[in-house]
Amino acid sequence: MSKKTKQAPDLCPCGGYQGKTLFKDCCEPILSGEQSASNAERLMRSRYSAYVHSNEHYLLNTWHPQSRPTALELDDSMQQWLGLTVHEFHEIDADHQEVSFTAKYKHNGRAFKMREHSRFVKEDDKWFYVDGDDLSDTV
Ligand SMILES: [Zn+2]
Repeated sequence: MSKKTKQAPDLCPCGGYQGKTLFKDCCEPILSGEQSASNAERLMRSRYSAYVHSNEHYLLNTWHPQSRPTALELDDSMQQWLGLTVHEFHEIDADHQEVSFTAKYKHNGRAFKMREHSRFVKEDDKWFYVDGDDLSDTV
């Protein structure tokens, strides 16, 4: 067995978008508010990166007020995110987009796959996560 390979710390947790694989070029400017997510896939990717970084503030801010929880229980000591795969990006109209994805994670040492079909809405030029259908059982 070769020794464990460690992921370079500056790669974006979301896996990169349109050839931009470094965190500073991909999700970081969106998480910091420097840039806004130009579409639902970018928002979804940045939210995944926010989960990896336990950035509750960003997650709540990008959640549509109609479905936003009051708080999130992010316990990064129990949960380790392993990777994101975006399967489908679907544009319904200018203000409504959908993304289906699989996120892999380990919880308490066990590996899980979370698959979701998520809905996003654009209001005042800003994309929000609305809700999603959990497809995890169909994987
Ligand atoms: Zn990213």
